[in-house]
Amino acid sequence: MTFGSALSLIGREALRIVLPSWCVVCRRDLPWRERVASCCGECWAALPAISVPRCSSCALPIPGTAASSPICISCSANPLPVEWCDAWGEYRAGLESVLHAFKFERHDFLDVPLAGLLEGVVRSRGDLGFDAVVPVPMSRAKLRRRGYNQAELLARALAKRLKIRCEPRLLARTVERETQSSLARAARAANVRGVFQAPPQPRGVSVLLVDDICTTGETFRACAATLLDSGAGRVCAIAVAKAT
Ligand SMILES: [Zn+2]
Ligand SMILES: [Zn+2]
Repeated sequence: MTFGSALSLIGREALRIVLPSWCVVCRRDLPWRERVASCCGECWAALPAISVPRCSSCALPIPGTAASSPICISCSANPLPVEWCDAWGEYRAGLESVLHAFKFERHDFLDVPLAGLLEGVVRSRGDLGFDAVVPVPMSRAKLRRRGYNQAELLARALAKRLKIRCEPRLLARTVERETQSSLARAARAANVRGVFQAPPQPRGVSVLLVDDICTTGETFRACAATLLDSGAGRVCAIAVAKAT
């Protein structure tokens, strides 16, 4: 371990001690022994996992389908340029609280348990043929404001678990536009057009894109298209939560 990484580990642990020690979901005191980062064991176990098949293009849950790679109605007209897209849970209830704390309340130590959920999804798909795990990038201005890119923390923790390299430099965000969550679907697509930039990719590189939340999938679409235009061989995408 380098001095720098040891120091940042100490910093994170110290931050964790000064943070209030209650569960970010139920707000009860957090017993040390039954906690998953800043969530109690009970709430963690109750997070809304998606147990039904998901659209292979945007991860939308499609209950009752028998297809092996189902496609939802909106994706059948305009699928994402990904080989598959998946999500662990639904963006609601406890998962919404956990991701909010992870993203906005500096509970950055949730990266490891959340990456554990992503690892489960990737392993159950049986597809580990990736050369690089790449986070959905954040603009420099936003990174300065927030201090960290939660997608990058997830990507790093997931890459470590899968023993694949994390390569944030394969994709950059050139401009920050209005936050996607405040826009309607068509506006979201226009909002992310031309926002990402990629250096020439290693020949045929296989990329696993990582983000915390996937809503309509327009961010993944723009990222994947940029990577493929720059020479990537294939792109798959994974998010912790699917918002519908
Ligand atoms: Zn709880
Ligand atoms: Zn879909």
